[in-house]
Formats: sequence, C-alpha cells, structure tokens
Amino acid sequence: MAVPAPLPRLFDYLPPANGNWPLPGMRVEVEFGRRTLVGVVWAHAAADPSSPRLKQVRACLDDTPVLDADLMALCQHAADYYHHPIGEVVATCLPNLLRQGDSARIKGELFWQLTDRGQFAEPEALSRAPRQRQALEIIREHSSGAPAALLTALDVPRSALTALEKKGWISLREQQPAQKPHTSLLAQVPLTASAEQEAAIRALQKAEGFTPYLLDGVTGSGKTEVYLQAMTPLLEQGRQILVLVPEIGLTPQTVRRFERRFNVPVVALHSGLTDRERLHGWVRARDGEARIILGTRSAVFTPLPDAGLIIVDEAHDGSFKQQDGFRYSARDLAVWRARLLDIPVLLGSATPALETLQLALDGRYRHLQLNERAGGARKPQIKLEDCRQLPGHTPVSPRSLAAIRDTLARGEQVLVFLNRRGFAPVIRCQDCGWEATCDRCSTLMTWHRAAGRLICHHCDSQRRVPPTCPDCGSQALQDAGSGTEKLEAVLSESFPDDTVVRIDRDTTRRKGSLQKALERIQAGQPAILVGTQMLAKGHHFSNLTLAVILDADAGFLSADFRGPEHAGQLILQVAGRTGRGERPGTVLIQTRHPDLPLLHTLLKGDYRPLANALLADRRAIGLPPFGYLAMFRAESPRREDAESLLETLADLLADCPVQTMGPIPAPLERRQGRYRFQLLVLSSLRPTLHQTLEQALACLRDMPEARRCRWQLDVDPLDML
Ligand code: ADP
Ligand code: ZN
Ligand code: ZN
Repeated sequence: MAVPAPLPRLFDYLPPANGNWPLPGMRVEVEFGRRTLVGVVWAHAAADPSSPRLKQVRACLDDTPVLDADLMALCQHAADYYHHPIGEVVATCLPNLLRQGDSARIKGELFWQLTDRGQFAEPEALSRAPRQRQALEIIREHSSGAPAALLTALDVPRSALTALEKKGWISLREQQPAQKPHTSLLAQVPLTASAEQEAAIRALQKAEGFTPYLLDGVTGSGKTEVYLQAMTPLLEQGRQILVLVPEIGLTPQTVRRFERRFNVPVVALHSGLTDRERLHGWVRARDGEARIILGTRSAVFTPLPDAGLIIVDEAHDGSFKQQDGFRYSARDLAVWRARLLDIPVLLGSATPALETLQLALDGRYRHLQLNERAGGARKPQIKLEDCRQLPGHTPVSPRSLAAIRDTLARGEQVLVFLNRRGFAPVIRCQDCGWEATCDRCSTLMTWHRAAGRLICHHCDSQRRVPPTCPDCGSQALQDAGSGTEKLEAVLSESFPDDTVVRIDRDTTRRKGSLQKALERIQAGQPAILVGTQMLAKGHHFSNLTLAVILDADAGFLSADFRGPEHAGQLILQVAGRTGRGERPGTVLIQTRHPDLPLLHTLLKGDYRPLANALLADRRAIGLPPFGYLAMFRAESPRREDAESLLETLADLLADCPVQTMGPIPAPLERRQGRYRFQLLVLSSLRPTLHQTLEQALACLRDMPEARRCRWQLDVDPLDML
C-alpha cells in the first residue's frame, strides 16, 4: 500500500472486512498511526495474516483503479530516481479531491445555470460590472446551462462567475453534455508549412514507439505549427496528446490555438482551477473523452488511456522543476513516461537546456532544427549598450531612451525588461549606511513604493517604510537600484503621452489582469511594456520591435554554475519577442560589463555559440551534462545543527566513489529564520551516484542529528539558491 507518509516504503494491510482485495491502483481508507489516510493499493503481497500488528483496510474508495499500470510505473520510477517516499509521490500525482477521498466518478460536465432568482435578474443592473454582465448574458443564452469550459474559452474571468454565484443568480451543476454532432477533425485550415517545418513534421510522423525528439527552433520559427500538424494524424487515429507548457505559458491564447485547430475536446490543467474543475479535467482525460490535454508541471501525471504523443513546449523553462518537497522535473518525467507508454516525446525550445542539447548532439534524441523565422520575419539585431558611466539610480541610459522615442514615433511597441519587481531593491540611510534587511532572511528588503511597504521577496515578510533611519534617526533614507515599479514611473515621466503597461507578479495578482494587459498589448497601439520574466515566455506581439534589457549581465557573474546558461536563455527569449511581424527587431542589452566574453557570444542572436562555450567548460570540470549531480540541503534555526549534519554526511561520503563539495552555506544563507547549508554530490556515472545516495539516505535517516534539522535531497538540482 502506498500511504502518504514521509517514509520511503510501502505498508502492509489486511484486506477489508468483506475479504475482497481491491485491485492495484485503487484507493482505500486506512488507519495510519492515529490518523485515517487515503492510500493506493500497490500490490498484493503474501503477508502473514496472523501477524497481530497488521490492520485491516477500512474502506475501499474505487471500483476501478485511479492509477493505471503506466502511472503506477511512473510513480515507482519517480520515487526511485528522486529517492522520495512513494506514498508522497502518489499523493502528488493525484488531484486534490481524490487525495482527500472524493469520488473519481463524475456524472457529467460542469455547467453554469441560472437560479430561480437569476431568471429575473436584470443585466442592466450590472452596467458597472461588464464582465459579470457578459457572463450572465452568455448563461442566459443557454437554456440548459452553459458549459463551464465554454465560459473559460470565452475568457470570462472566474471572479465574474463567483460574483454572480454570490448574488445567488447562477449555480454550478454537473450534468450529461448534449450529444455532440459529428464533425470533421480539422476546424481550421493549417498554415502552409515551410520546408524546415515540413521536414520536422515528416520526421515526427515517422516515429515508431518510444522516440525522443528535440525541436530546436529559433524564437518565432513556428514550433506550434509543427506540434499542430504532427498531432493531426494521431488525433485522427483517436489518440490523446499531452502538451506540457510553462506556468505562465498556459494563457487562454495558447488554449485557443489548440482549440481552434481541431474539433476535439481540449482540457487545460493549470493553477487557476478550483479543485473540482481540476478533478473534472483529470476524469475527462482518464475516461478518454479529452483528446488534447494542455497542462503545467503536474499534468505530467494525467491518466492517458489512448496516449499517442507527449509534447513539452519551452522545455528549457525552470517551472518544469518542482522546487520544494518532491523535487521532480516534469520534463524528465515526460520522457520517462513516453518510454513506459512506448510513444514519441517532443521537447521544443529555442534555447534548450544544455542537458537536452547534449543528448541531441550525441544522437540520443533526434535533433530537428528550425533556423528561420516563420512567415518571413527576420531575426532581431542585438547590441550592447555600455552603461559603465550610468549613475546607479538611473535605470535607462540616454541612448536607450532615444531608441525608445524613435520606436514609439514609428508607431511601434517597446519592451523594457528587468527581472526584479518592486520600486527598488535597497533602501539605505545616507548618514550611517543602515539598510533595510529582513529579520528572518539574510537579504535586503525590497521597497514597494505604491504599497508603502518593505517586502522580503524570499519569505514575504512585510513592514512599513520607516519615516527615519531606525539606527541614527536621520531622514536621509534613499533608494538604490531599480525594480519594475520604478522603471514604470521613470518611463511614464519621460513619455507622458504614451501608454506604459507593467506586467509582473504585483500587477497581475488579480485573476484576469494578466489577460487584460496582454490584450492591450496585442491590440498593437504604440506602447511601452515594462516587465519581468513573465513577459519573456512564448508571447507573440506582432508590433513589438525594440527590447531594452536591464541588468541581465548579473547572471553571467553569478556563483551558480548554471547562471550564464539561464541568463543567456532569458536574453534570447526576451529578444525573441521582438520583430515577429513585418518590421525587424532591435535589442539593446544594457551592461556594466561590456567585455564579458559570454555576453558577446549572444550578439549574433544565436544560442548555439553560447551553448558550445558553456558545454566545453562543463566538460572540462565534469559538471552536468557530463556528470550527474545531487544536492543535500539542510536547514535549521541553529546554524551549527544544519552545518554539522552535512559535515557528518560529507565524512561518510568521503569513502564513496563520488566527489563532494561542501558543506557550504546556501547563497541565501538564512531564510524564514533558518540557516541553510548544502552539500553537492557529483559523479561521472549515474548508477554510482544513485547507489551512493541510497546508502547516504539510509544513514541519514538513522542519524540523531537529522532530527534537529529539516533536510532534503535534490536530484538534478536546477538552482543553487
Ligand atoms: P515559436 O513558438 O517557434 O516561437 P510560433 O509558433 O509562435 O513560434 O509562430 C510564430 C508566428 O509565425 C505565429 O504567428 C504563427 O502563426 C506564424 N507561423 C508559423 N508557421 C507559419 C507558416 N508556415 N507560415 C506562415 N506563418 C507561420
Ligand atoms: Zn542612519
Ligand atoms: Zn525574509
């Protein structure tokens, strides 16, 4: 039995009172210590029934398995590979409601219906809430209820529906959908593929059984069109397609691109769903009704009885790696799952992770390349803007400002990119040098001017901005450095007659606000967009011709060995947002280090020179992809506890055939009041690494010191924070 407990093993139980064993993959209710938990039957073992310690299964929750053999095998692999307790892996894999014991059967689809009160509601009463009014009108047009999926597809924000529900005008019901009329598969004429796209599509259609592909295509080369055309024959055969996208990539535009092309049910699984909606999507996939499943990281665990292809779009994206608890990589599990299902898997990216690229260069992944932009669009021109002379509190250089002015004058749009939100990252006393630091983390607090608060971006602690210096009472408190909030203010001041749209986590917290901002930009009027990495990914703005990138060189100087890789990917992804229409794009990289050789490798706009340089470095020192890496992390309120635990572990590993580095303090040494240390373990052989980790874990679980800390193992760690 897999039980959600932090122990790396299965647990034995006796069959329920009626003596009938539920099948493997079914959920059962069991007593565990003093709690009642939902577990999943893993296998029927010949346990000794006379053993007095075994308990009976309390209840059986399913009549068919919620995990089929393929998902059970995937969970088992993930538990082994990430050395994570199987019960917790299984719990991650199931939708929340199933984890809590809800029924895995649904009677039909979710529909919004007018209530009796709603029948008499006056849409005019909603003149000040146009979204609610729109929602009410759509629901009114459907006398037997409007499918919830339809309202989502029409971009009706969840908040509008909730507001109407609160008024008692509408309610959510489950009912059988009306029989759909038979239609042909294609709902839209495909674009005429370019020669490069055609070659990639043909290669994909030749796949037999498990075949991994890298679709290595520059930004704007039309990777989505390749996905769509490669999917067509598989959908015709009645196969299901799973498409994984980065967190921010699953916007309604993406969903619509897939929905518009095919007359098949599409489900989107993302963090904006309620538990009930998520369960519905999951069940529709499991019942084989949904043919295309678009989802973020955790969707890699969606049941797919008729799986035909798995696609990972923007496969380099960091959001595919879970960064706490069960630290899996959805990209890597997608490949493993395709292997279990014996189907092709396609990783698409303009800036593939070095691990992925090396597999393609070694011929282990088929390497499909798109070097030209689709529809005749040209590649952007990238230039360095030397900012060594620029004063610290001035974010945008005079030359960048001039370029912005020219672009706006031509009626085009500008993107100013800075991966730091808030007004300023530092607030400092001019007289005594005091700086606002977080009480719980070893970091400075970011000043959010509009909110009048100092906020720690690591633990979310907040406090008011002090009127005077807490140390010396001076009133000379000043900000240093810039965040997107300041950038927005500076640009609005320099360009008072132009629209400035800021997109970051602060401005898009409200549901639907990101969508609204993106729509404003897509309308194409001249405007300046200010934003963080939320803007770097996947968006298509056809009138955007200039990108100014601030402070991107920091990554090239970072202590994290992946810093330059991630910085280069980010710069090229931002650059890739420009010049996607008829006019070519220009990119200005503002830098205080114009001599950095790695920065120069990017100037032609190609990822490969940077990737080659970085691969050569990694090969020389045996780091991934030429070595296999894992990281033990320990944290504790007392510094010594975390450090000494990892020291003991490092001593233990000294006799093993692996290299260790550390323990060293994490780059963010203290977070939420805990001191954090890390120990890296590296080996040139994957099996050696995993055997060693297994032994180390066995010892660690028995060490008394381990009880004084929180510790974790991260296999294939992505960032060193
Ligand atoms: P990528 O994901 O590779 O950055 P997209 O799939 O977003 O690129 O495509 C970029 C743009 O090019 C889209 O507007 C798309 O409609 C268009 N496009 C793609 N393929 C073709 C084609 N064969 N002919 C004309 N336009 C195309
Ligand atoms: Zn002071
Ligand atoms: Zn903090």
